[in-house]
Amino acid sequence: MLDYYPAGFGKLKSDILDKGLCTGCSICTVMCRLENIVFDERPVMKQECASCQLCTIVCPRAGEISSKLQNEWDILNRHALVQSAQSTDKGILKVCQDGGVTTSLLWYALDKGLINGAVVSGVKDLKPVPMVATTYEELVSSAGVRYSPSPTYQALLPFTMNRNSNGFQHRARLGLVGTPCQVLALRNMQLPDLEGAVLEPADSIDFTIGLFCMEQFNDELTKHLRKKMDLQDAKKFKITRSGLEINFSNGSKITVEHDEIDMFVRYNCRFCMDFASMYADISVGNAGSPPGWTTVIIRSDIGRKIYHGALNGGYIVENPKSPNMAVIERMSNKKKNREKNLRNVLIN
Ligand SMILES: Cc1cc2nc3c(=O)[nH]c(=O)nc-3n(C[C@H](O)[C@H](O)[C@H](O)COP(=O)(O)OP(=O)(O)OC[C@H]3O[C@@H](n4cnc5c(N)ncnc54)[C@H](O)[C@@H]3O)c2cc1C
Ligand code: SF4
Ligand code: SF4
Ligand code: SF4
Repeated sequence: MLDYYPAGFGKLKSDILDKGLCTGCSICTVMCRLENIVFDERPVMKQECASCQLCTIVCPRAGEISSKLQNEWDILNRHALVQSAQSTDKGILKVCQDGGVTTSLLWYALDKGLINGAVVSGVKDLKPVPMVATTYEELVSSAGVRYSPSPTYQALLPFTMNRNSNGFQHRARLGLVGTPCQVLALRNMQLPDLEGAVLEPADSIDFTIGLFCMEQFNDELTKHLRKKMDLQDAKKFKITRSGLEINFSNGSKITVEHDEIDMFVRYNCRFCMDFASMYADISVGNAGSPPGWTTVIIRSDIGRKIYHGALNGGYIVENPKSPNMAVIERMSNKKKNREKNLRNVLIN
């Protein structure tokens, strides 16, 4: 590793990494045409840098969101469909976070040959592990939520220019699940370059499912919880109004209150303003729906094609009652106000 950082990576380091703003999405590692950045808990530069700035251009925390992107998605957001839905698959319902719609939409797309893989986050030792799921079993193993950052774009390394070694076509057809910051990172990468071509490997992502997201937690939270309880049989973690609910295999559950976990919220998340993944083809969350159902916001043509295909094919069912939009708006405003208040504190 180098102990100096020339202008290109140096900008990412001084503006994002050193300020604690990195979301851990890892898109800069797949963006670097020289394969200069490795992801070791955070992006690290390993050799000489060409100072091309591509890593900074795609970083979801560097600079303003492009006005082209904002205008395009403002229109899509205005015409979005919003539904409560649930999977019909017993295997998915057993392990999913809410209504299992996320995993079911990906399963529908895979089962019908619309995609040949899904970029998701599996789990090992309670930490998210990025992967490309190509079977029902792999998809089911990735269901549920991990409240820490997934370096999701590491799963795309085999689809970059120089690394096409895993048997996929160079341009694969993939669906991707990500937090709002990860979806924004992809949209930055999908903005056409000067010649009008979409950069690799972003051209392999056919559609995105964005998760609603209030915040993520740092590794210290798991250490803190391990001091209080044995997490060996922890089956599911869920943020509720009362706090972090931990469900165990024997059916018992423990809730750790918000006041106790708040100090473990990642610093970068406190600056984030997108709750409902407003740049995703389809967004999913539990806010606004009854327990056991997923709120689904469908924005784009491809989003509609996937959602209605899964609905008509019997992979999901709709709740006749529409989601409570006031809850989603309240959460969105809460997130924006948190960012505004923190910024004011830092300025004054
Ligand atoms: C960090 C985080 C915070 C969230 N906060 C909120 C919230 O405040 N309010 C709200 O309403 N909803 C929130 N959600 C979304 C919600 O928890 C469910 O993911 C959503 O309702 C979909 O449920 P499902 O049953 O359809 O998903 P499932 O079918 O269970 O699929 C879940 C998908 O999430 C992916 N995933 C899991 N962990 C991560 C991760 N760390 N990074 C990227 N992808 C991951 C998995 O790969 C899987 O594809 C959050 C999700 C995450 C990951
Ligand atoms: S993307 Fe460009 S600026 Fe960033 S590390 Fe690679 S060569 Fe350097
Ligand atoms: S692109 Fe992602 S991983 Fe890289 S510095 Fe920015 S937020 Fe961090
Ligand atoms: S709060 Fe924002 S920065 Fe943090 S994980 Fe969620 S989308 Fe990313």
